[in-house]
Amino acid sequence: MATATKTKGRSAGHKSASHKSAPRASAIVSKEPSAAKGYAAQSATSPLAHFDFVRRAVGPKDVQIEIMYCGVCHSDLHTARNEWKGTTYPCVPGHEIIGRVTAVGSKVKKFKVGGMVGVGCMVGSCRGCASCKQGLEQYCDKEITFTYNSIDHKAPTGSAPGTQTYGGYSSQIVVDEDFVLKLPKGMDPAAAAPLLCAGITTYSPLRHWNVKKGQ
Ligand SMILES: [Zn+2]
Ligand SMILES: [Zn+2]
Repeated sequence: MATATKTKGRSAGHKSASHKSAPRASAIVSKEPSAAKGYAAQSATSPLAHFDFVRRAVGPKDVQIEIMYCGVCHSDLHTARNEWKGTTYPCVPGHEIIGRVTAVGSKVKKFKVGGMVGVGCMVGSCRGCASCKQGLEQYCDKEITFTYNSIDHKAPTGSAPGTQTYGGYSSQIVVDEDFVLKLPKGMDPAAAAPLLCAGITTYSPLRHWNVKKGQ
């Protein structure tokens, strides 16, 4: 079972965000790639350590999120240790992300600055294949983009094509709004983080098979 850990503030002197603090007055939409801090594995045997990198510029459909919590999933460990092969280093794991919106692109409809949101294990897909058209992006067989250790196929302006995705063990992330979830009001953000992978993985089959209490 995953557990939530608090991520470090995003810059020196930045106090860790409280979910009661007021939304920032204005979103300064970053037209340039922006600095991020993370914890990365540099090899299959090295411990995770501080890693400076950049997030892409906030595109018209992008949401920028200051990460407050990120669950620790066993997939993170398998990937960091290259136990499933195919890990590209440096590797910043983390796909149970909870945070606060700090900027939105000009065409973002669902999110506002200050809102509490989550990001799970996917951040993109081709949008054109049969699976994507049915809303089953997790079965996209063309350009499925995972939250980390994946090629960012649809990364818009500000990043080189084929940029590697880095996950939630980091200070901030930029994600297409279609892969961002709204956190219900009143939900404990730390407790919500593990729902984004471990939680949904167990809830989904229960719902699919309409399992009732006591069955
Ligand atoms: Zn997971
Ligand atoms: Zn697709």
